[in-house]
Amino acid sequence: MRVAVLSLHTSPLAPLGGRETGGMNVYVRHVAASLAASGIDVDVFTRRIDPATPAVQPLEGARLIQVAAGPETHLEKEDLVGYVEEFARGVESFRAREALDYDLIHSHYWLAVEAGDALARRWHIPHVAMFHTLGDVKLRARASEHESPARLEAERRLVHSVDHIVAATQHERQLLKQLYRVSPQRVAVIPLGVDLEAFHPRPRAEARAALGLPTQEHGDGHLHVVLAVGRIEPLKGFDILIRALAEMTERDHVRLIIVGGDDRAATELARLRAVADEVGVSDAVSFVGAVPHERLQTYYSAADVVAVPSFYESFGLVAIEALASGVPVVASRVGGLTSTVADGRTGYLIPWRCPGPFAEKLDLLFENESLRAALGAAAARSMQPYSWDAVAASLYDLCQDLVAAPLPAAIAGDG
Ligand code: UDP
Repeated sequence: MRVAVLSLHTSPLAPLGGRETGGMNVYVRHVAASLAASGIDVDVFTRRIDPATPAVQPLEGARLIQVAAGPETHLEKEDLVGYVEEFARGVESFRAREALDYDLIHSHYWLAVEAGDALARRWHIPHVAMFHTLGDVKLRARASEHESPARLEAERRLVHSVDHIVAATQHERQLLKQLYRVSPQRVAVIPLGVDLEAFHPRPRAEARAALGLPTQEHGDGHLHVVLAVGRIEPLKGFDILIRALAEMTERDHVRLIIVGGDDRAATELARLRAVADEVGVSDAVSFVGAVPHERLQTYYSAADVVAVPSFYESFGLVAIEALASGVPVVASRVGGLTSTVADGRTGYLIPWRCPGPFAEKLDLLFENESLRAALGAAAARSMQPYSWDAVAASLYDLCQDLVAAPLPAAIAGDG
C-alpha cells in the first residue's frame, strides 16, 4: 500500500514550540515512521518554505517531499488558503514524474484536507482526514474569538466530502455529530500516542542537575518545580498559571518553568512577563524558550507537577508526555485532556478558568510528597497503552478497510 500524507502548512521536521509547530508535527512524524515500519510506502508532502531544502528527504523510513506552492518562505497559515490548489497540483506533478499510484490520502488540518479533497477525486482513492482543530469547535469553546469565513466554510463542507475522519477522542466525534452533523460511523476515534522510550520516569535529582537546578530534596536548597510546555499563545492559558503561583500558600520554594515560543512569541511573552510583574512573582517564573523535543524529557523529569491550563486542547500531547514521565498533571477540564488525565488518580482536572483552583491543587501536591509520588506512578502506568505503534496499527486497519471498500458513487463517478 502506498499512502500520501498531506501536511501543507507545517513540516514534520520543523522545530517544535513555535507558533505553528506542536502536536500535529509530532503526530505526522511518528505516524509516518510507524506506518512505514509496518510495510506501507509513505510519502509526506509539505509546502516548501526554504529553497535550500532537498526536494525529497528521508523521514524515518518514509519520505518527506517539499512542494513549491507560493513564495518559498514562511507564511502565516492564515495566508495559505490561496496556495492550496497550487500545492495539490505540485503533489500531482510529483506523482506523475515518479509514475506512482497512491492507494489512500491521509491529510492533516483543513488546508491539507482541502488539497486532499481535490486529489482524492482526481485519483479516485479514499481520503482520510484529521482536522486537529476545527474552527466551529474553537469558537464554541471560546478558545478563539475569530475564525476566517474561508476556514469555517471549508471545514463545514470537507467534513462531509472526505471518506473518513480520524478524531483523537470520543468528545471530538461527539462534536462532529453535534456541530457538523457528521455520522459517527464516518469517524474513527484513535487517541494520539507518546514515545514511551523517550518519555518514562527518570530520577528527578539527575534531571535537575542536568538543568542546573537545585537537587536537594529537603532543607534550604529545596525547590518545587511546576512545568508548563507549549506554544506561547493566549490559548495555552499560561497567564492563569502565573496568577495561580501568586495565590499559592507556600510559594517561597516554587519555580514555574515555561517551555516554548519562538521569535513570533514576543508579544505574548511580554504580556506574560507583565502579568508576572503585576502579581509579584517575576522571580519565580523562568521562560526558557523552545526546547528540542529530544531534550524535553529532562524537563519533565525535573518537574514535580506539569500544569496544562489551556482554554482548549483537542488532545494535548504535553499532558500525556508528562504522565508517561511519571509526573502528575494539573490541567483544565477541556477537550482531549478530560480523556487523558484521570481526575484524582493521575492528576487533577480544573473546571474553572481561574487561578485559585490551580493554586489549590499545586499546594496540595507540594504539601504531600507521597500523594504526588502515588499520582506520578499511576500516571506512568496509565500511559502504557498510548504508543505510536498502537496509533499506527489502528490507522493501518482503517486504511486497509477503506482501500478494500468500494468507493462511494459520489467519488467514483466524479472527475
Ligand atoms: N514541544 C517541544 N518543544 C517545545 C514546545 C513543545 O518539543 O519547546 C512539543 C511537545 O513535546 C508536544 C508538542 O510540541 O509534543 C505540543 O503538542 P500539544 O498537543 O501539547 O499542543 P499543540 O501544539 O498541538 O497545541
